[in-house]
Amino acid sequence: MRIDRLELVNYRNYESLELEFSPEINVFIGENAQGKTNIMESLYVLSMAKSHRTSNDKELVRWDADYGKIKADVFRKYGKLPLEIILSKKGKKAKVNHLEQRRLSDYVGQLNVVMFAPEDLHLVKGSPQVRRRFIDMEIGQISPVYLHDLVTYQKLLKQRNHILKQHYGKQTINDVMFDVYTEQFIESAVKIIRKRYQFMELLQKWAEPIHHGISRGLEQLQIRYQPISGLKPEWTPAEMASFLEQKLAEVRKREIERGVTLVGPHRDELQFFVNGYDVQTYGSQGQQRTTALSLKLAEIELIKQEVGEAPVLLLDDVLSELDDYRQSHLLNTIKGSVQTFVTTTSVEGIQHETIQSARLFEVSNGT
Ligand code: ATP
Ligand code: MG
Repeated sequence: MRIDRLELVNYRNYESLELEFSPEINVFIGENAQGKTNIMESLYVLSMAKSHRTSNDKELVRWDADYGKIKADVFRKYGKLPLEIILSKKGKKAKVNHLEQRRLSDYVGQLNVVMFAPEDLHLVKGSPQVRRRFIDMEIGQISPVYLHDLVTYQKLLKQRNHILKQHYGKQTINDVMFDVYTEQFIESAVKIIRKRYQFMELLQKWAEPIHHGISRGLEQLQIRYQPISGLKPEWTPAEMASFLEQKLAEVRKREIERGVTLVGPHRDELQFFVNGYDVQTYGSQGQQRTTALSLKLAEIELIKQEVGEAPVLLLDDVLSELDDYRQSHLLNTIKGSVQTFVTTTSVEGIQHETIQSARLFEVSNGT
């Protein structure tokens, strides 16, 4: 898939902008704070109906404006697909083919993007929360059902925590609603965990050979999903459910003391190992960077397989950060098959052939 045309109205520092893109490589060049990331972000919002860097949609609308708009002509295997996101104080609207979608989860999935930005190094080094968000967003792109399940899970988690807080200082909870929520919570948790396991297995399948290649055959990457409960992937849903029930019963007293649910996918962890060592703890900068890059490239392959079309690749400030070998590896992987958007403050760090074959855009103060 590719994006042919983009139109922004009152989006961040763009009052009004219209661009036509190359189906191959597009490079945005400009000084700091001119609006390069804002364009990348708008493409991300077009895909996910939310920003990769803020959960507050108000920030996306130009300071003095009431509403903002992102509009694009996306091209998919079956033809042209106009997409539109309208942001206003009343909330956001998403349109596919000029038709407003009732739920945002119905909208997500029309355009698939893979974004690689400096923050993605936190994917390896950062908190477990960053990795959970990564899994959730990636699965969400290829499975709208997963987004539904996730919303349900978060709602149940909130309701369960609410009752736990009401029982602060007590020994037990004698409330039918709590039992009902807990039962539904477990059912929902099992769905999330099973989906995540499946996804991790696929990601592992693609990321391992890619990592092997980028590390010149020296490194073996392993991805592991670690549920806080200690539950095992090979179990049946029923076995998982009864195990979670037992674990929740064991921690009940502590849950009341703390007023939060202590077991469940909202606390699970994702770990990366290189040659058997945890990259987060023992990996060098370069290994962490290679791991993050392998994951992103694996995502491209995974989306190709699951969706049947290549996603659009967004490289914000990272291409010039990669050494020559990694840059070549990346560019060879995407050559001719993945529409790519690159931002940079100078063309110097980017390979000559890339710049020569790319469509270049100069970004200056919101134009
Ligand atoms: P860098 O090279 O430093 O990453 P950049 O070109 O990627 O820079 P952006 O993050 O795209 O920069 O743009 C930042 C600019 O957008 C800043 O000048 C900021 O003040 C402006 N900006 C951000 N949000 C809004 C908004 N809601 N309304 C108007 N301007 C905004
Ligand atoms: Mg930027």
